[in-house]
Amino acid sequence: QLSKRLEKVVSYIRQGDVVADIGSDHAYLPVYLIKHGIASRAIAGEVNEGPLRSAEQQVAKHSYQHAIKTKLGNGLAVLEHESVDTIVIAGMGGPLITQILDEGKSRLEAVSRLILQPNIAAENIREWLLDNHWRLIDECILKEDGHYYEIVVAEKGAAEAPYQPESMAKQLWLGPLLLKEKTAVFKEKWLKEKAQLQRIYQQLDNASSSKEIDARKQELAKKIAWLEEE
Ligand code: SAM
Repeated sequence: QLSKRLEKVVSYIRQGDVVADIGSDHAYLPVYLIKHGIASRAIAGEVNEGPLRSAEQQVAKHSYQHAIKTKLGNGLAVLEHESVDTIVIAGMGGPLITQILDEGKSRLEAVSRLILQPNIAAENIREWLLDNHWRLIDECILKEDGHYYEIVVAEKGAAEAPYQPESMAKQLWLGPLLLKEKTAVFKEKWLKEKAQLQRIYQQLDNASSSKEIDARKQELAKKIAWLEEE
């Protein structure tokens, strides 16, 4: 039984793909993909020995050693001498996912799809995708156990990006496709976030003014105004 979050990640994987799950921990995702005949093969990459052992045990428990390779290594380094169609990086912060992609750029040549699930700061990932010519093809937001999760799916290619120049920064922050869809979960998340930003603004307003504080207030006011529009 997968979490709702990983189930949604699975829904973006194409039938028959070779999939690399970077930061796989217990290898729940690769095991599920093989069990359900979704992926043809999978690689479970881990930078830490402990989680790698858990992944190995999980794979052995199902006797999936023929279909899932567990590999120790930092980020996309585990893709050396491998050919994969889709990379999944889930359950980490946006900055770490972006760092893994950036450091592993040279290993992305044959990869056609990225499925990224940041726990925080998805805007980092959208910016990286835009700068590196990956096209955003889907996004979703979901809530599980009181946490909000975003999933960002991208494909290689120069087809039209879903951004308008005049509202680029806002779209990178909130997600251009999520903004279009505006689901109940999206509205709930950003309503809470707005209240939080307003509280911070109020605290700064009560502090004595300085150049840094004024700049921070300006940044907050801009974001609050974007959320007011929604
Ligand atoms: N992907 C799974 C999920 O979404 O449920 C597990 C997420 S777990 C919170 C993050 C995992 O990423 C940990 O097992 C950690 O060891 C691994 N990790 C962190 N940085 C990594 C890196 N640079 N390369 C590979 N794995 C990494």
